[in-house]
Amino acid sequence: MGYELSNEQLEWQTIARDFASRRLKPARHWLEGDEFWANARMLSEQGFLGVTLPEEYGGMNLDLFSAVLMIEELCRVCPTSGRMVYHTGPGITNFINHLGTAEQKAKYLPKITAGKYYVALGMSEPEAGSAATDLKTTAVEHGDRYKLNGSKIFVSEGHLADAFVVYARFGTTGKPSDIGAILVERDTPGFSVGVPEENMSGEYQTALYFDDAIVPKENVLVKENAFKALMGVYNGVRLGYAAQTLGITQAAFDRTCQYVQERKQFGKQICEFQGVQWMIADMYLQLEAARTLLYKAAADAAADSKADKTSVSIAKVYVAEAAKKITDDCLQLHGGYGFSREYPLEWYYRCVRAASIAGGTIQVHKTMLASTVLGKKFDQRR
Ligand SMILES: Cc1cc2nc3c(=O)[nH]c(=O)nc-3n(C[C@H](O)[C@H](O)[C@H](O)COP(=O)(O)OP(=O)(O)OC[C@H]3O[C@@H](n4cnc5c(N)ncnc54)[C@H](O)[C@@H]3O)c2cc1C
Repeated sequence: MGYELSNEQLEWQTIARDFASRRLKPARHWLEGDEFWANARMLSEQGFLGVTLPEEYGGMNLDLFSAVLMIEELCRVCPTSGRMVYHTGPGITNFINHLGTAEQKAKYLPKITAGKYYVALGMSEPEAGSAATDLKTTAVEHGDRYKLNGSKIFVSEGHLADAFVVYARFGTTGKPSDIGAILVERDTPGFSVGVPEENMSGEYQTALYFDDAIVPKENVLVKENAFKALMGVYNGVRLGYAAQTLGITQAAFDRTCQYVQERKQFGKQICEFQGVQWMIADMYLQLEAARTLLYKAAADAAADSKADKTSVSIAKVYVAEAAKKITDDCLQLHGGYGFSREYPLEWYYRCVRAASIAGGTIQVHKTMLASTVLGKKFDQRR
């Protein structure tokens, strides 16, 4: 199916664009520093936290497509602000919104929309990255609780999170159907968060350790036979992430279009050179294509109220690949200034690089696409 933005979606896009350009100042560090919290306060006053959550929990009840449009616009000015809207709406919070019980929603969602509570995702393990269904962390029933054992890695900003959506094996068949998810709060006995490790974009990731961690039964999100449901929610999360990547890439492109008209060499603006013009045109083409594919996937999700996995993989792969190429070319067109820390180009480049890995690698998504095209199921398991 194609897509068309409704009047309401166009309105939200315009509101987010105006708000971002008038009010936001770029803040590089997520959940840290005066600049970030000043932006977060304004986002909260504007009602932008929890955009996809029901109104009864302080949200706006918008569809995923509207959220994608808003996140893109905010990231164009301030990536960490876009990320705040993503996190409190269609990001990890989505697991609670879509899979949680009424009690869990009432307990967690209002704190999240107030910007006072951050939930991270514990899915990847040292031996189970792309092969997520090989994960080993177990959740074993123990009276009115579950006992968790195992470990997680690469948890984004785990050192700052208040709670974690943790994928674990509830069954013992060894099949993907054993896998479910449970909410683990930070102060859980037997649970600890590893030392934060800085990654390429300057964010921090942590390991999680479960050593007979005792978690109340009411924290279970889903138990066995739920892997499909978990991946369904995760596909929506992937679109929110792709919207951030697209917004950051657009920011790099906007700056570059300005720079090539300011910078002079050989007595001319560098945009007078055909080599530069063709680079600008190629970037524009890729940006438009990336946006079209992302919006199509978001429209499919809004129509069905769940993301279509093929549209998501197409959008995710294209946005990630285009972002890498465009931010690289933007950096190139800034010459030595692009490589310096004085300008944000090198940061944009580092930020979008993760999109080819996080949320499933490009290669894994391409395998899924090939299996759709060829009508074959490529079993990647042993
Ligand atoms: C910035 C960032 C943030 C992240 N945040 C989180 C988070 O909050 N929570 C969380 O749980 N995880 C998080 N991750 C982890 C992420 O989900 C994994 O890195 C990803 O799933 C890949 O797993 P891996 O790193 O183990 O790579 P591997 O699976 O070991 O892959 C290594 C290489 O082999 C290739 N490969 C593997 N299998 C195949 C195959 N079948 N066919 C072709 N090629 C293949 C991959 O494409 C890749 O190039 C994050 C990662 C990044 C980079």
